[in-house]
Amino acid sequence: MAKVAVVTGGTRGIGAAISMELHRGGYKVIANYASNDAAAQDFAKQHGIEVMKWDVGNYEACQRSLASIEEKYGAVDVLVNNAGITRDGFMHKTTPEMWEAVITTNLTSCFNMAHCVINGMRLRGVGRIINIASINGQKGQIGQVNYSAAKAGVIGFTKALALECANKGITVNVIAPGYIDTDMVKAVPQNVLDSIIGQIPVGRLGTAEEIAHVVNFLAGEGAGFITGSTITANGGQYMV
Ligand code: NDP
Repeated sequence: MAKVAVVTGGTRGIGAAISMELHRGGYKVIANYASNDAAAQDFAKQHGIEVMKWDVGNYEACQRSLASIEEKYGAVDVLVNNAGITRDGFMHKTTPEMWEAVITTNLTSCFNMAHCVINGMRLRGVGRIINIASINGQKGQIGQVNYSAAKAGVIGFTKALALECANKGITVNVIAPGYIDTDMVKAVPQNVLDSIIGQIPVGRLGTAEEIAHVVNFLAGEGAGFITGSTITANGGQYMV
């Protein structure tokens, strides 16, 4: 039977590229999304990948959805926590709702999803958890106190969970992408984007496929000795 991979936010942008790459690699992929039914249905039709709608910020929804996936296809082998949103603004203009939304969707979601699969992975002695953080969780970013905090949280979450699971055959890693050419970045005003590209030594935005390749590598058996790592993929913009 095919290995099962769940990709949150797997129908658009970086997540869509991850879903496609894992699908090409022979995984049974379930691509989750939140609300954009049209994009999800197009994606499913075009690529023959199953899509499933639920809010990763809602624990019960994660529990219900993962239980139904496991009942249908068997245990989840690979969990990719990719879903994320931005609600940008300077701190003094950030509302509690903007803070809450970003922390819940980007960080609490990692807890929700991993919590629902971790017992099974521990019992089976195998599993891969790959989280998507951001360069801005490493270096901070003006106008993104909420997002930087959430993504820095994802990095800490990854390290602690990796330590807890290291002797159980489970690896937990995080990728910190730089600026990638997706809808999320298209929302940035062009003048700001031009100045960001000017700060990227390779001189361009990254592609979603470039992040998907890293996920595919981390999901593979050959990556079994890599755990608790933060892999930066940012065109040389920030070296840590
Ligand atoms: P996009 O906005 O292009 O896609 C986001 C995906 O996440 C969509 O499929 C969306 O579903 C889904 N999603 C959003 N909220 C939820 C939710 N509550 N529950 C389930 N799914 C949800 O984002 P990107 O591809 O650009 O980003 C993917 C990840 O990479 C994010 O975590 C982001 O923070 C991170 N990242 C992105 C960078 C970039 O430059 N693009 C740089 C660094 C990190 P729907 O289609 O229904 O809206």
